[in-house]
Amino acid sequence: MLRITCQQASRLLSQRMEAPLGAGMRLRLRLHLFVCDACTRVARQFAAIRLAMQTLRERD
Ligand SMILES: [Zn+2]
Repeated sequence: MLRITCQQASRLLSQRMEAPLGAGMRLRLRLHLFVCDACTRVARQFAAIRLAMQTLRERD
């Protein structure tokens, strides 16, 4: 099953903040984002948060 729900996709997005996803999960997430605008927006927000956190870390 490659199709995942929006709920699963958002869980994967937040998991990705903690640790890298496995290849299978990354593929499922990418396929979902390809077809789902709502989760794409969520993914962008997570990416912005991650970037901000990296910037803060680099400042230490
Ligand atoms: Zn979705």
